[in-house]
Amino acid sequence: MMNKNFIDEVIDSIISVTGSPKDQKIATHEPYFQNTNAITYVKECITSGWVSSAGKWVDKFEDLICEYTGAKYAVAVTNGTVALRLALFLVGVKHSEEVLIPPMTFIATANAVSHLGAIPHFIDIEKDFLGMSPHALEERLEEIAIKKNGKIYNKFSGRRIAAIVPVHIFGNPAKIIELKEIAQQWNIPLVEDAAEALGSWVKDGNHLKHCGSFGMASIISFNGNKIISTGGGGIIITNDKILASKAKHYSSTAKIKHPWAFIHDEIGWNDRLPNINAALGVSQMEVLKERLFLKRKLFNNYSKILNKVDGLEIMKKPVNCKSNHWLVSIRLTGAYKKEELKKLRDSILKMAHNNNLLLRPSWDLLNSLKIYNGVPSGDLKNAEDQSFRIINLPSSPQLLEHE
Ligand SMILES: *Cc1c(COP(=O)(O)O)cnc(C)c1O
Repeated sequence: MMNKNFIDEVIDSIISVTGSPKDQKIATHEPYFQNTNAITYVKECITSGWVSSAGKWVDKFEDLICEYTGAKYAVAVTNGTVALRLALFLVGVKHSEEVLIPPMTFIATANAVSHLGAIPHFIDIEKDFLGMSPHALEERLEEIAIKKNGKIYNKFSGRRIAAIVPVHIFGNPAKIIELKEIAQQWNIPLVEDAAEALGSWVKDGNHLKHCGSFGMASIISFNGNKIISTGGGGIIITNDKILASKAKHYSSTAKIKHPWAFIHDEIGWNDRLPNINAALGVSQMEVLKERLFLKRKLFNNYSKILNKVDGLEIMKKPVNCKSNHWLVSIRLTGAYKKEELKKLRDSILKMAHNNNLLLRPSWDLLNSLKIYNGVPSGDLKNAEDQSFRIINLPSSPQLLEHE
């Protein structure tokens, strides 16, 4: 009975922010092209015939991402998963090597590792903001890592540890400065999965640096559900000139520039972002600042109302950073047994879906999936504890556009 009142209160509180869904389902994050130049730019691609994987909109989009994030180079590709696979490849990840990643993330983080024939190795997260825990990373490396000929190996599996991939979960920056320090101490390449973090910044000394500025290479996604969308799309950002030029080369079939000959000097991929998608991206970058403003406002609106509900809290943003608030999350705070917690979470989700509010849980921990069960992993107590506590709320900025 008590649970029923709690669930009703949660749903009513959410609806008091989003407005009543009536017959229109409200998803956690929806793409939005109204009041932008999307149609004009895409039309230009169609009338000119430049729709494929080269063209002025690709260059323009890459320039805009560099200008906004402060990265020196950007290489646009077909999606975030591909961007991550390519970034890992370029920092030297090879078949049968290990890559340290958190277990609470979208499946793509692990799949990009697997696509290279490498093996994900799970490192616990922090309770507060769900990013990879510097403490857990340090402890795990102390436990398993040994140096041989300047390279770092997992002494239990015998495999090289080839990269560390923190993820900025739901747009909230991970403790990237501490993580980078540890990566540097061990001389392991750092690649940031900033798929969800366009518009999120970290204070480094007196400067705000964009998420993705700390890794050797980092990636952002423009999938339909991300803060801006190109339909499908992703980008590698880096300050390393050679890495950037290799990213372009490998993503465009490793073809040597020549007026007519087909000479390919490596086995490359066909990964470049089509011009027509980049045109959408340019139109989206033009409205990014307004969007971030609306998202901050939505986060504040949710915080005011939902923090009054006993038994949950709105997940705050970490200190010393700016979050894009890609997804606003509630966290169930009660002391439940695991099974009770899952039941309560699922009842909230079910009731919400019945009311056309398409709330989503955080992902099932990747180590709990059959496909990744049995890969190496540190102690995951925080991830296990948080796994069923998190529920993501409708977070599209356009929810506020009509206010
Ligand atoms: C969306 C996402 C990706 C993958 O991006 P796609 O463009 O969907 O391939 C990778 N990592 C995280 C954390 C994501 O949220």
